[in-house]
Parts: sequence; C-alpha cells; structure tokens
Amino acid sequence: DWKIEAKRVAKIYPKPGSRSTKDATAVLDGFDLQIKSGEFLSLLGPSGCGKSTFLNILAGLETHNGGAVLVDGKRVEGVNKNVGVVFQGYALFPWLTAQKNVEVGLKIRGVPKAERRARAAKVLKTVGLEAAANRLPHQLSGGMRQRVAIARVLAYEPDILVFDEPFAALDAQTREFLQGELLRIWESGDTKKTILFVTHSIDEAIFLSDRIAVMTRAPGKVKTLFDIELPRP
Ligand code: ADP
Ligand code: ADP
Repeated sequence: DWKIEAKRVAKIYPKPGSRSTKDATAVLDGFDLQIKSGEFLSLLGPSGCGKSTFLNILAGLETHNGGAVLVDGKRVEGVNKNVGVVFQGYALFPWLTAQKNVEVGLKIRGVPKAERRARAAKVLKTVGLEAAANRLPHQLSGGMRQRVAIARVLAYEPDILVFDEPFAALDAQTREFLQGELLRIWESGDTKKTILFVTHSIDEAIFLSDRIAVMTRAPGKVKTLFDIELPRP
C-alpha cells in the first residue's frame, strides 16, 4: 500500500534543436521508487542523475515518456495539488510581507480571503514565525526566508511534501536548526505527511530520514542502499 509509487518511469529529453529521438538523452529509464504513507525518504545521487526531473514529474510539472507514477494508487495527471514542492531558492515576492507571501499562493488557488489570512497565520506559527509575519523578506534571515517558503507550501495542506535541496544555500548552523524544525513540523501534524527530500548530504539524509534511496548516474539504476530506523523522541 504505497503512497507514492514510480514504476519503470522513463524520461527523455530531445537534444536542443533536434526533433529526432535518436539523439535524445534518457534521463530516467526504468526508474522505480516506492514510498509509504507518512514515511520520510531522502533521495541522494550525483548531480544530473535526474532527481529534480523525478520530483517535477511527481508534482505534475513535467511529463514523462514511459512507465507510471502513482499517488494513492492513481496516476499523476497534470499538476498534483496533493504534492507541495519546496525549492532551493526561496522565490518570495520581495515587496510582500511574510504573511502576504503565504497568502499569495492561496489566492492563486482560489482560497477566499478570510481563510487565506487564517491559514497563513496558522502555518507561520507552525514554522515559528508568528512574530515576523509583517516583515518583508529583506528583513528576514536566510533561514527565516526558507521557513516562509516552507510555510507557503504547508498552507496548501498537501499530503506529500517534496523538498529539492532546501537547505543547500544556508550556513551550517541555520541548516542544523532547520533540520530540527522540519522534523518537529513533520511530527506535529495530525496525520504525518509523506516527505520526499532530495539532498547532497548523507549526514542530512541520515539525520532526517526513515529510509534513503540512492540514484546512480546510469539512467534508471536506482537502488535503495539501506534502511535506517531513527529514534524519534
Ligand atoms: P539532478 O536533480 O539529479 O541534478 P536533473 O533532474 O536536474 O538532475 O537533470 C537530469 C539531466 O536532465 C541532466 O543531464 C540535465 O541536464 C537534463 N535536463 C534537465 N532538464 C532538462 C530540460 N528541460 N531539457 C533538457 N535536458 C534537461
Ligand atoms: P489584500 O489581502 O490586502 O487585499 P491582496 O491579497 O489582494 O491584498 O494582495 C496583496 C499583495 O499581493 C498585493 O500587493 C498584490 O500586488 C500582490 N499579489 C496578489 N496576487 C499576486 C500574484 N499572483 N503575483 C504577485 N503578486 C500578487
């Protein structure tokens, strides 16, 4: 009973300017991955092995050429509102306060104003930023900006949270702090969210995850190298 299941997924990018699939590159080929509901899985692998490509396919932001990606047993078709993606860059609107940055995402999704306000206030509290709700991004530290970005995604109330190297640009101390915060957020929900976390740091993966999957550079050769059980306080 998998929350997320990738079965023999293939993704081919044609060479720029070429219409022939002959000189196309297969980024993913026979890619398999399974994630249980409520599981925190870290995905590691060298640059260019297709991690971001898979995240985008899962979120419905990118098509694929073969195989299937299932969420709750259903094929992903188009943008998947059940999947919230936190990217490495914060992508906050510099002229909007933290609160408004969270609300804008909900506005785009058609959530009425009163509910936008309430949901934004709630998630800013979840990430420990209630006192900074009226500050502009430039008045926030890098770690706080990344927390706003996480709050924005939490406000959509997705079951699945996807992180693409979210802490890579932060200093070590901030990164460690946010790793702890992420675990706290993950554990505090009524129902535990399923997390797919892409990182380059094996330390980070070991600290955060229930399970680690490692992708190799050869397309599609994905191996789960080991399973770890972390003591959760
Ligand atoms: P990772 O996230 O593991 O670093 P990516 O999924 O970003 O890897 O990229 C995998 C491969 O696909 C890389 O070789 C990259 O150059 C290529 N690629 C990614 N996006 C595109 C695109 N839109 N068009 C062509 N090639 C792409
Ligand atoms: P209020 O809730 O105070 O009426 P709005 O939610 O209408 O405010 O908009 C707050 C701010 O967000 C405005 O400055 C507006 O320009 C900006 N804004 C709203 N929607 C978008 C959007 N899709 N992209 C960028 N900025 C937006």
